[in-house]
Amino acid sequence: MKTLLKVILFTGIFLLFSGWGFHAHRQINRLAVFTLPPEMIGFYKANLQYISEAAVNADRRRFAVVEEAPRHYIDIDHYGDSAVYKMPRFWNDAVEKFGEDTLKAYGILPWHLYTMYFRLRDAFMVKDPSRILSLSADIGHYIADAHVPLHTTENYNGQLTGQEGIHAFWESRIPELFSTEYDYFVGKATYLENAQIAVWEAIVQSHREVDSVLSIEKRLSEQFGEQKYSFETKGKQTVRVYSYEFSKAYAEALNGMIERQMRLAIKMLGDFWFTAWVDAGQPDLKSLINYKPTEAELEQRRKELEAWKQQRIKTREHESGTTP
Ligand SMILES: [Zn+2]
Repeated sequence: MKTLLKVILFTGIFLLFSGWGFHAHRQINRLAVFTLPPEMIGFYKANLQYISEAAVNADRRRFAVVEEAPRHYIDIDHYGDSAVYKMPRFWNDAVEKFGEDTLKAYGILPWHLYTMYFRLRDAFMVKDPSRILSLSADIGHYIADAHVPLHTTENYNGQLTGQEGIHAFWESRIPELFSTEYDYFVGKATYLENAQIAVWEAIVQSHREVDSVLSIEKRLSEQFGEQKYSFETKGKQTVRVYSYEFSKAYAEALNGMIERQMRLAIKMLGDFWFTAWVDAGQPDLKSLINYKPTEAELEQRRKELEAWKQQRIKTREHESGTTP
């Protein structure tokens, strides 16, 4: 052989912790737009390209911002066996019980999503189109991550059980191979009575799948032996990948789990956007389609919002459970 065959182990290091491959993240954000009611869909459709492309901004930020990483996961099993049911649902209660440092060390995904909900609601209230869009895209990212079972466990890459690489396998390789066959029709966005509790329900549901995600891979690995991997050419490199046959067997044994999780993520994202908009008083978004507020206008709106919040604090209980 003339050229040295460069073989690298494709464990998806680049995608590690990322939560879905880029493709799936974009799909989830894009498809959630189509769950929205007529009053919202025009504005989101006009910005469809941004909403889907910005789906991965939150992952990019992890390299620049130290606080970003723990927003993408929660290693809930660190806190014990049934911790996913027992963990305080609201941030302040969780801080009281475990302290902020511990929470941040093992991930703050569900609480951060609730903070993001308030930010989006506020952006709707001040009618700040660019903020509505960037927050909507980021929320899409975190909601998608919440639906990846491996984002809810300390054994996030199978590293504790000799299954390294399973993270990217589940969230990137399988969707890349089979997601064109998925059915993405999830119906209309519905109002969430309590966004924080809804996020926790998603985390519980995701976490219940962790056992299947890992045990099925283990069983099939034993069955497939060396056939588990094959080699593919990517650009100038030949990389080791999970073989098509192994991937197919895994997807089948999961019995539609990945499709189901993607569908749940799409639906919940639509629900989140819709709920924030309703709670903001259903502002007219049609006027925002071509609208660009000046910085002075936005500053004024932020001041008004702060004043409104001060008023509210006097009259009713604070909004509990927001992360810093
Ligand atoms: Zn992520």
